[in-house]
This record gives sequence, C-alpha cells and structure tokens, in this order.
Amino acid sequence: MDNPHAPHFQRLVWLGAGLVALIGMLLGIDRLALSHLKSDAERTAHEWAVQLPNSVPGLNQILQGVTPTAEARAAIGVIHGTAGVFRFRLFDRHGQLLLTSDSPGSPPPAPQAALAPLPADVFAGHSHVQLKQGNGLTLPLVYSEAYVPVQRDGGLLGVVEVYVDQTDRAELTTASFRQAALLAGCALTASFIVGGAVWRRRLDVERLAHDRLQYLVQHDTLTGTLNLAGFRQRLKQACRQGATPGQGMAVLAVDIDDFKGVNDRHGQAAGDQVLATTAERLRAVLRGADSLARLGGDRFAVLQLGVAGSEDVKALAERILLALAQPCDVGHSDVLVSASIGAAILGVDGGDGETLTQHAEQALLRARAAGRGGYNFYDPALDAALQRRRQLAQDLELALAHGRLQLHYQPLFRSGDDSLQGYEALARWQHPVHGPISPAEFIPLAEENGLIRALGLWVLRTACQEAARWPEGLTVAVNLSAAQFAQGEALVDEVQGALSRAGLPAARLELEITESLLMSHTDQVLHTLQALHRLGLKIGMDDFGTGFSSLAYLWRFPFDKLKIDRAFTQGLDTDAKVGVIVHSIVQLAHSLGMRVNAEGVETEAQRLALLRHGCDELQGFLLGRPQPVGRLAHETQVATEAA
Ligand code: C2E
Ligand code: CA
Ligand code: CA
Repeated sequence: MDNPHAPHFQRLVWLGAGLVALIGMLLGIDRLALSHLKSDAERTAHEWAVQLPNSVPGLNQILQGVTPTAEARAAIGVIHGTAGVFRFRLFDRHGQLLLTSDSPGSPPPAPQAALAPLPADVFAGHSHVQLKQGNGLTLPLVYSEAYVPVQRDGGLLGVVEVYVDQTDRAELTTASFRQAALLAGCALTASFIVGGAVWRRRLDVERLAHDRLQYLVQHDTLTGTLNLAGFRQRLKQACRQGATPGQGMAVLAVDIDDFKGVNDRHGQAAGDQVLATTAERLRAVLRGADSLARLGGDRFAVLQLGVAGSEDVKALAERILLALAQPCDVGHSDVLVSASIGAAILGVDGGDGETLTQHAEQALLRARAAGRGGYNFYDPALDAALQRRRQLAQDLELALAHGRLQLHYQPLFRSGDDSLQGYEALARWQHPVHGPISPAEFIPLAEENGLIRALGLWVLRTACQEAARWPEGLTVAVNLSAAQFAQGEALVDEVQGALSRAGLPAARLELEITESLLMSHTDQVLHTLQALHRLGLKIGMDDFGTGFSSLAYLWRFPFDKLKIDRAFTQGLDTDAKVGVIVHSIVQLAHSLGMRVNAEGVETEAQRLALLRHGCDELQGFLLGRPQPVGRLAHETQVATEAA
C-alpha cells in the first residue's frame, strides 16, 4: 500500500462535498422560491398594467390629469380584483397621485398627501417590484408591490402602482420547491447510501488485497508456512515478550538430509512434494502456539514456545525426527527422507531472535556433520570451530580465485648417488589473518566445499609449467585428491591439457594418490588410473602403510612408485620391528616392479637405515624442505657452483 490514508482522505472529501451540496441546496431553495415569486409578481403586474389601457377607457387622458369618466370608474371597479390585484394607484408622469383603486371615484388627494416618492428607475421606463409580507388582515400575508411605467410613443405617460396578492402563489411555490428539495434530498441520500455501499465494498476489496499481500510477504507459497521475513517478525514479537520461568522459547533449525540427492534422483516436482509433506508433518507435531517457517531451500525452522527446559526441546526434536523419518509419497514412488536438527534456547544460547536462529543453524551444521537423522544443541566452543571452518572455506575460495595460493617444491633424491631426482609440489596458503594454513587442513576443506577440482587443476598446471623450466630429467610429483577422481575422464583431459600447455613430457610427471581412493568406486577409479597411465606419466601410491588394507591394492594397479609413510621413517629410530616392516615393504614393492620412496627423513640414522633397507628414493627435512621457486635445490646448487 502506497498511502494507507488515501481512502480516508477520499471519504472525507466525499462527505464534505455531500454536506456542502446539502447546505447549498437548503439555502438555495428559499432564495430560488423568492426569486421565482418575484419574477412572477413582476410578470403579473406588467401584464396587468399593459392590459389596463384596453380595460379602462380614456386611461391616457386620466394619466394626463383628466378626471375619469363614470365608464372609466366602472371599468376600474371591474378590473380591481382580477389576477390577484387587490389595490392599484395611478400616477402621472411626474409621480403625482391621480387615482387609487380604494376610491376610484374620489378626487385625487392633494399633492402633499402623496405617498413616498416613486422609485427613480420607473421614470427611466423600468418596472420596479418589491415582495412584501402583510399581516393577513388588512394586507395579504405575501404580496408584491409593483410600479409599472405606462408609455406611449417612447414617452412616459404615467405610472401604475399595482399590489398583487401573492399569498397563494407563495404557498404553492414554496410547497413545490420544498417538494423538489425533498425529492432532491431523497435522491442525494440514496446516492450517499449507494455511494457509501460502493465505498465500503471498495475498502473491503482493498483490505482484502492488502491482507493477501501481507500474507504473501510473510509466507512461503509452496508450504504455506511462514517465510524468513515472517519468521523474523514472529521471533521479534516473541522475544519482546521475553522468557519467563517455564515459559521460555527455543529455535529448532530443521534440515532435510541429502535433499539435493532427492531433487537429483527424483526431479524437482518430487522435491517440492517432499518439502510440502515435511511442512505438513512438522505442523502435525507442533503445538498451537509454536510457529513453523521455511527459511529457504530445505531449511525449516520451528519456534517452540512454553519451554521449561532443554528436556522440552529434546522431546520436540525427537518427535520431529520421528515424524519426518517416514517414506514420502512423491507420486511415482516413495522417497525415504530423514532430517537433522540444531537447537538453541533463548537466554541460554542467545538473547535475541537473530542470534538464536544463527546458533540453531550452527548446531544443525554439527548435527549434519555427525550423520543423518540426529539433533544437536548449540555449543559455543564446537560451533565456533565449525564457524571458523566455514569462514576458512570462504577465504580459501577467494584466495583460489585471486591466485593467492602458492606451490612449494620438496626435493627427492636417488639413494644410490644422492642425485636430485625431482620435486614434490606441495600447496601453500598464507592466510591474511591466520598466517600459514597447513594443506592438511585446507585440502580437506577444499574437498568438502567443492573447491578441490579447481584447486587441483591449478596445482597441476602450475607444477607442470614450473617443471618445464627445470633442467631436463627433473621430475615433478603432484598430489591428487580422491575427490578429483569423481570427474572420471575429465581428469584425464585436464592432466593431458596441463602437460601440453606447459610442453612438459608426460614421463616427467608423477601423480601421487592415496589408498583411500582405491577403497571407493574401484572400477571407475582403476579405469581412470589406467587412462592416466597410458598418457605416459608415473603413478605413485602415497602414505603407504597407514591405511587398513594397503597390500590388497598393490596388485590391483601397476603403480610405478610406492611412498612409505613418514610414520615408518620416524619409527625406525625407536622400534626395531619397524625396520623389519620397511624391509618387507621394499622387497614386496621391488618384486612387483615398483620403486620405493621413503618420506620424512629427518636424521642421518634414518637415512642410513633406509639405504640399508633398499629404498630407492629419499625425501625429508634432512635433505631439503619444501621451498618456493627461486630457492629450489638445483637453483641453489647452480648458484653455489657459480660462486
Ligand atoms: P604428503 O603428500 O604426504 O606430503 C608430504 C608432507 O610431509 C608435506 O607436508 C611435507 O612438508 C611433509 N614433510 C616432508 N618432509 C618431512 C620431514 O622430514 N618431516 C616431517 N615431519 N614432514 C615432512 P605438507 O606440505 O604439510 O602437506 C601435507 C599433506 O597435504 C600432503 O601430504 C598432501 O597429502 C596434502 N597436500 C599438499 N599439497 C597438496 C596438493 O597440491 N594437492 C593435494 N591433493 N594434496 C596436497
Ligand atoms: Ca605426497
Ligand atoms: Ca605422503
């Protein structure tokens, strides 16, 4: 609504106009009647006066002062009383009274006895009429007094003063005017009633439209629940009333598990059906005072009122989970759904609605991370950690987009002659606030947040481009995340693209994968690995020995290299049995035609032990730390030799 006052203003204008019309009409009726009477009197007097010379023989002479004849007097007696004329007087052209109807025979009164002087405009040839009120006895109640000039050949002969009884006419006129006024009044009243009804109807329609708009603004059309705006307002209201003992409130953030999967597998219509059913089921377990909202996508929120303690919230959360964990009919099939819930209680987990909702959502994230169909209460410490991870994921995306990640290269040495074999590329991220973040933290973050594909591609291209500038023969090892294999064939294309863009021979590239990759989707992964192998590059198994069934995978795929995890290298110092294990691994790998790399070499003793056990390649802080371009082993060697 642009201006809610507009209808009231219009109504006022409407009423005002009506009132003015009514008052105007009432005032006007009397004036109108008066003016009508006056013109009527004027007409009568005029007609009568004009008729006078025809009726009274020798009138012109009489007006010039000749005494009326008996015939004239008789005529005067006859016309007196016609057309309501109850008296008249004749004056000569100087205004001298000649004759009065009261005594047509008597001689004219003496000049000094003349009545008040005649109106001046009569001498100019104009009639002059006045309406007067009489007492009803000697004079009629309403009468007109008219002065009518009698002219001949354009000259004034004399003046006739006529008194016309207007009482009957006045009554008639007033009566008919009042009747007209009454009719008009009725018509006006009717138009007001009709107008008012139309008005009311319009207001009703407007109010209805307004209510509908309000509803739309605050509700979700798909489920009929409140939407985010509506929920915020409801929360604000509830928080304003505050929590009293036994009458607290809680917000429960409800999220359907793997809703995206439902959409992907069954289509959007099925997804919508799941949402509508979820809303129905939620409504069914809520109490009347509680509110339900869909905040967007598959995120629902419940405002629970009358909360006495966390037990009440727990009970509701369990009721909700139970109600939602039912097959959902989506037309062609049933879909099994479940939900996760995060809850926050007013006063305990937040003092206002916004905070409460945020905290419930943070608790929900933890519930989801813990698996399907569970609920969690807000926990500041745990949720802060989760919050940091979410923030970090956003920062990582930005860093990636703005090219703020770096690659460091750690040298790998052949154990036979200590010659440089190549480098392993390791991603680095210098966070503007938190400083250096370990890839052990941000790589999993990238995997969870769908950033790993872009990050992996960047590493691959950068490492290939860098390696192409190194002396012939130096290799570069690039770590691949299991998540990158989800792309299947596209990964093969990306690797090939990176090689050809950089102009790096495939033989100089090594890809390191971990056995966790082989534990899932084995056939597809094997297929991709084989396709990669056919490009002519080498594939190594990283962190060997840390998994559960490392050996089982070794014969499934012809790895070129096996990297013994640094836990074994470190264990060599303390546990004699580790030496036996390392020895066996090397034997096994060699018998399968694989080279063996030992990671994490930090001490000379470790280096010697690894050499003894037959490792082909060594890597570790003892031999060289990961370094940025410009400080790589072969670059510094060249610099040293030049010096
Ligand atoms: P990783 O592939 O096993 O890489 C070797 C890790 O051991 C590196 O840690 C390296 O700095 C560290 N290291 C090397 N020598 C020694 C040593 O003598 N002692 C000790 N204590 N550590 C040593 P970093 O760089 O922190 O990387 C951690 C892990 O992050 C890597 O383990 C790898 O799994 C992952 N990562 C790093 N960069 C990438 C990448 O570009 N892509 C993927 N997918 N993962 C990466
Ligand atoms: Ca590695
Ligand atoms: Ca490793």
